Amino acid sequence: MIISGKELSAKLKAEMAEQVATFPAKYGRVPHLVVILVGEDPGSVSYVTGKAKACEVTGIRNTTIRKPVSITQGELLSLIEELNKDDSVDGILVQLPLPRHISESKVIETICKEKDVDGFHPLNVAALWQKQPCTVACTPKGIIRLLKAAGVTISGKRAVVVGRSNIVGLPVSKLLLDENATVTIAHSRTADLPSVTRSAEILVVAIGRPKFITEDMVSDGTVVIDVGVNRDPQTGKLCGDVDFAAIEPKASVITPVPGGVGPMTICCLMENTIECFIRKMEHSL
Ligand code: NDP
Repeated sequence: MIISGKELSAKLKAEMAEQVATFPAKYGRVPHLVVILVGEDPGSVSYVTGKAKACEVTGIRNTTIRKPVSITQGELLSLIEELNKDDSVDGILVQLPLPRHISESKVIETICKEKDVDGFHPLNVAALWQKQPCTVACTPKGIIRLLKAAGVTISGKRAVVVGRSNIVGLPVSKLLLDENATVTIAHSRTADLPSVTRSAEILVVAIGRPKFITEDMVSDGTVVIDVGVNRDPQTGKLCGDVDFAAIEPKASVITPVPGGVGPMTICCLMENTIECFIRKMEHSL
């Protein structure tokens, strides 16, 4: 079964649009997401455009602030601080990656926890690991949504996550653990990776290498979630970390690239923006 993140995210966004339509009567306005884009990297431009479109579909107000690559770290941090103070702004997102002269961790720490719709702020990350209320990073949240929508039982399963980044590998491992899977985290130093991936009943791959997971690395009936977004060196087309054509016949469930995890990430960003907005509005009532 191929799980379409595109279809599921369209359904969830339609539900969010209905919810957002009730907000002006209830709270006097709709949620407002501000996205900051530094530079003109085509990948980043396309992600930011996707976010603006999703806002349009859900009825969330979007402001995209474009800054030249020459912006200093100090200028960017001052802009974020202004937005932190602006009561009309509910969510702030700075599109990553940033130019080398700007520290991503400084930027992430400067966005206040309450407006951190990406769920990257250290306080949100800490709260996730302590099972406290928090904003959960969009991609890991989207992956759990996809698994549930496909009817996959997570509890009691052996899950292997390949990749241990702060934005995908680690948080998705934690969410799977919270769903009572037994989780193994693999990485670039893992010895005999194929034997580890073959032990998986649920395999989540977030490496960033085209078609790295080959047919011999996956057992029959595995649930395969492919997070990777790469260019196929032969065709130049988008592809995942998983050799989809070879593995799809063996997998019980698999996500395609494009159209799998990617749309769910943006969908969960909309959901996080709504959650931040509601928290703020309920708090000020
Ligand atoms: P990072 O580069 O931060 O992390 C990659 C991870 O893969 C690291 O933990 C690294 O191990 C591991 N790794 C690298 N090579 C190997 C190897 N040969 N064997 C085993 N593990 C390896 O990447 P991200 O987590 O940020 O992103 C991963 C992929 O997911 C990228 O393609 C990215 O574009 C995509 N992505 C997609 C999103 C979506 O919405 N669909 C959202 C975010 C990311 P080590 O820690 O040892 O270095």
